[in-house]
Amino acid sequence: MQLVTVGTVAFDNIETPFGRADKVVGGAATYISLAASFFLNKSGLVSVVGDDFPTDMMDLMQAKGVDLTGLEVLKGKESFFWAGRYHYDMNTRDTLETRLNVLLDLDPKLPENYKAAPYVMLGNLDPKVQAKVLDQMSDPALVVMDTMNFWMDSAMEDLKKVIGRVDILCVNDAEARQLSGQHSLVKAANTILAMGPTYLVVKKGEHGALLFSKDRVFFAPAMPLEDIIDPTGAGDTFAGGFIGYLARTQDHSFDNLKRAIIVGSALASFCCEKFGVQRLLEIKREDIDERVQQFVDLVDFDIELVEE
Ligand code: AMP
Repeated sequence: MQLVTVGTVAFDNIETPFGRADKVVGGAATYISLAASFFLNKSGLVSVVGDDFPTDMMDLMQAKGVDLTGLEVLKGKESFFWAGRYHYDMNTRDTLETRLNVLLDLDPKLPENYKAAPYVMLGNLDPKVQAKVLDQMSDPALVVMDTMNFWMDSAMEDLKKVIGRVDILCVNDAEARQLSGQHSLVKAANTILAMGPTYLVVKKGEHGALLFSKDRVFFAPAMPLEDIIDPTGAGDTFAGGFIGYLARTQDHSFDNLKRAIIVGSALASFCCEKFGVQRLLEIKREDIDERVQQFVDLVDFDIELVEE
């Protein structure tokens, strides 16, 4: 097993100013695992669903090398459900409904062959559950964590304990500010890095992402898309591409993290082109490589400074 991912596997109802989709398969772990699968032969998914979850989607994931031994299926129960509405500025959305359903019973017990995996992706979940997964891992080479404002509001102490155990934290700009109590993202990064992680990734939706270490910073743009159909899962897809690329290359240097950020951004751009995970199921490695090249071209410029 090259990677273990924990997170939600869900049904989502999504409304945007341009359309809607009901009961589509979503969930952080679904997006992460599918995105990472482009770079890995085998990853393991830790989560829980009800027996309402479609078996054909499980088959599709398994065909992409996502092992589902760690996905518990609870008989007679319903899967996690989330409904959200995006505004005209698709960087903002309202949660209309969250039904935890089976998530209330999630007490992760890792299959034996998951425990020695070198890479771990802690998808957005109760930090106590994230900690339980980490407790069962033998000695991972790299742990990446995602979280959200909900846990900052309700479980800050538990959250900080997990943050202290990870190598890379991924949050959006508002969450970085809330977690650190700093408005400046540079100051926020310094405060968060002092909590334990070696690197911080700050996602800024259609405005790209920043990568911070103690003494370096890198900015990656997002691909300007003609039509953004559905940004749901873009953050998770980004994280999946990011950790998938790192697991494949096994190089944790700042320069390789820069490449991983571009790969994650390329995958996230595909995710937004259709509702749910649809686009991630269509694309091939060649499509990703082509888009990565478009990122390189997007920021390529030559400048000669003129004399005063
Ligand atoms: P993202 O757009 O990357 O933030 O992730 C969207 C996915 O997160 C959706 O597919 C939802 O099913 C899932 N999700 C929504 N709310 C939560 C929550 N409170 N905890 C965990 N996952 C969630």
